Order: sequence, then C-alpha cells, then structure tokens
Amino acid sequence: MFCLLHLVSQAFQEQKNLNLSWYEKLSSVAHYETEAAHGTMRDVFISDWRVDLGSQTKMQFYKQIKEEFGEEQYLNLKSRQFRTNLAKIRSSSHDLMIERGRYTKEAGVWPRACRFCCDRDQVLGFEYLPFFEGTIIEDEEHCLTECPMYHSVRSSLSDDLKGLLLLRNYKDMMNSAHIEELGKFLSSCHRIRNPKKTPTSSSTCSNTSVNDSKTLS
Ligand SMILES: [Zn+2]
Repeated sequence: MFCLLHLVSQAFQEQKNLNLSWYEKLSSVAHYETEAAHGTMRDVFISDWRVDLGSQTKMQFYKQIKEEFGEEQYLNLKSRQFRTNLAKIRSSSHDLMIERGRYTKEAGVWPRACRFCCDRDQVLGFEYLPFFEGTIIEDEEHCLTECPMYHSVRSSLSDDLKGLLLLRNYKDMMNSAHIEELGKFLSSCHRIRNPKKTPTSSSTCSNTSVNDSKTLS
C-alpha cells in the first residue's frame, strides 16, 4: 500500500515538474473546493450559533451586546482580572443575585433581590400582598447603572463611558475604546460585593489565647 502511494506521489510530482495543463487545472479546482468548503462550514457554524443563542432564555444580556459572530475586543486586554469579569457579565455567569437566586429552593422574589437596596423583612412580609409593587432585582443592568452601592466607582468613570451607561447602550460600551475601563469598573464592583474577610474579634482573641498558651508553655 505504501509502495503504491509512493508511486502515485512520484507520478504527480513528475506531472507538476512538467507543468502539464491538466495538473494545473486539477490543482486550482482542489484549491477552490477547499475554500468553498471552509466558507460553507463557517456559514453553517454561524447559523447554528444564531439558533442556539436564540433558544437561550437566560442569556438576555448577552443577546443585547452580541449581534454578530466574531472575536471580541476584551479578549485582547492584558489584565486577566478585567477579562474574567467582562466574560462573566457577558455570559451571565457572575455572582449577581439574579443568577445566584436560580440555585436556591427559596420561593418568591427575595432570592433575586439586591441585598444592598432591599430589606429582607419588607420583601418577605409584603411580597404576597396586593399592593406590593415588586422589588429591585440585582441583574446586570442594576449593577452597571443603578445600584447606589457602586456609586463612588461609577462617578469616577470617564464621561464617555458614563454616557454609554446612562443610555444603557451596552453593545457600544462593549465595543468601545473604553473596554479596559469597563473591565476595571466591573472588577471594583466585584470587590465591593465580595470584600476580603478581616479576622473577627473572637478569632483574634482565640488566636491570642493560643499564642499566649504557647508562650507560657
Ligand atoms: Zn442595588
């Protein structure tokens, strides 16, 4: 088998060296068909991607920002932290309550409510009463544009980015020259939501006691 393939290869090489017209024609057809096949595969992939995206009920934010298939600017940012936080908010794989609330067995709206803006007792006490007007859900839009918890970092943003946030123009915001600034903003918001835990007074006391006992022993 190897011998036969080798002979065929040699024969084609000979035809190529002789610059025969049939070989040139065969070569151009093969090249054209490869390009056409790549184009077809790409079109099929993009078509499937659109169908999959349309059927995803949870990726509402992503649908607002991603209309065309292609590489995104944020992937080229140097900061891994910025890229991570941008990817999380784009794909709704973040730690905002609208996502975290999906994985709790607790009924009602409280699991998705913003912990900074809503009072637990008020929501749980009134949500089933007829005059209850709903609560503030902690979703991407609330975090980016409304929640007072991030007011100080939001107010320090450039006027251009603030303008895009004000207009809720998330698509342009993700494709703007301010993508790095947005990544920094999201990282700051994440730190505010997840402050580093400091040692409690009781643990400090217990550590002191252990150290004291060690010293005494
Ligand atoms: Zn809030």
